[in-house]
Amino acid sequence: MTSSSHDVLNPVDDRYTPAPCGELDEIRATLDDGRLSGGAPVLTIYEHALAKRFGARRAIAVNSGTSALHAALIALDVRPGTEVLVPATAPLPTAMPVLTCGATPVPVDTLPESLALDPADIQRKLTGRTRAAITLPLWGYPNDERASADLLAQAGVPVIEDACQAHGTRVGNQFAGTHGAVGCFSTHDRKLLSTGEGGFVLTDDEELGERIDWYTHLGHLRGTTHGVNYKLAGPLAAIGLRRLKLLDGQLDRRRHNAQRILAALPPGGLLRELPYGVQDKPNYYNLVLTIKDRIPQVAAAFEAAGLPPDSIRWRYRPLYHQPIFQPYANQSPNAEHLATTTVQLPVHPGMTDATVAWMADRVAQIAQGETRA
Ligand SMILES: *Cc1c(COP(=O)(O)O)cnc(C)c1O
Repeated sequence: MTSSSHDVLNPVDDRYTPAPCGELDEIRATLDDGRLSGGAPVLTIYEHALAKRFGARRAIAVNSGTSALHAALIALDVRPGTEVLVPATAPLPTAMPVLTCGATPVPVDTLPESLALDPADIQRKLTGRTRAAITLPLWGYPNDERASADLLAQAGVPVIEDACQAHGTRVGNQFAGTHGAVGCFSTHDRKLLSTGEGGFVLTDDEELGERIDWYTHLGHLRGTTHGVNYKLAGPLAAIGLRRLKLLDGQLDRRRHNAQRILAALPPGGLLRELPYGVQDKPNYYNLVLTIKDRIPQVAAAFEAAGLPPDSIRWRYRPLYHQPIFQPYANQSPNAEHLATTTVQLPVHPGMTDATVAWMADRVAQIAQGETRA
């Protein structure tokens, strides 16, 4: 047994709880106003702030990331009998809304050591029934989707970006969630912007934005179009509005912590960062390292250090390993490889400098081949 305080019994806490930043004042203002529903005036203010922050024409707040994805799919006419291309790297919440629509999810492999859709596999899987494709900057890592975007545009297939983990991730000179027809975000407690439960969509397409707005607001009760009630409650929008101001500081801190750990990695060792483009910037939802060799030993060493990779902690595997997606299984060797060779580390602002320094040391040791705890 190790005497370290960071052993298996004491994993590094990966849950980030932001310090109070005046949310109570914002909530009090909505209580004083008295309108707490999703029709409260604070919703409009919050939506404008989101659109401005991420550089989109329109933002629509909803009650979860799942709702955001479902509404985006419905607005793009995803219905029973249609197909949606989904990265094989997708976790359950990315793909479940496709099943909610009664449509068929079609897993697409990613490029080697990448989260970007493989254009050759898209080519193989496009059919006359393909109605949409989902891209996924998982763990907040930017993907180079340019080749697949061209291919999908030629085929007339719109792209939904599942940016639920990618608030503030930069891809080229744009933010994640603004590349496709629509970007979907979650503001669940574990995400970089948290309202407890919640989400939003971003789009530059006015007509698509209107359809999403009408669908998520019961068709505004006109009885002309079907809708659901996916509205975000006023007090939650108030929390989001205030916490949005903290996002930049949070991104800086996450990048700082990630750099501290990356700087300790020995060149030519067993670990390196998941690659991304020189123009791009992860938001460091997690710092993601890839394992070059001795994969089971390295993964076990991280687990022993209280830093279990997603493949161990959540039994993360390509989507079609999940029982409800087995009927859609196909071969996605790159996604299989990525799932078992990546390590996801917390680098959130709640971590002390001492914890980050300890992690940097431990990660450096593992990278040098010291895989026993
Ligand atoms: C969190 C998450 C979702 C779902 O968001 P909820 O707000 O929990 O419904 C979807 N996709 C990804 C990648 C996520 O991380």
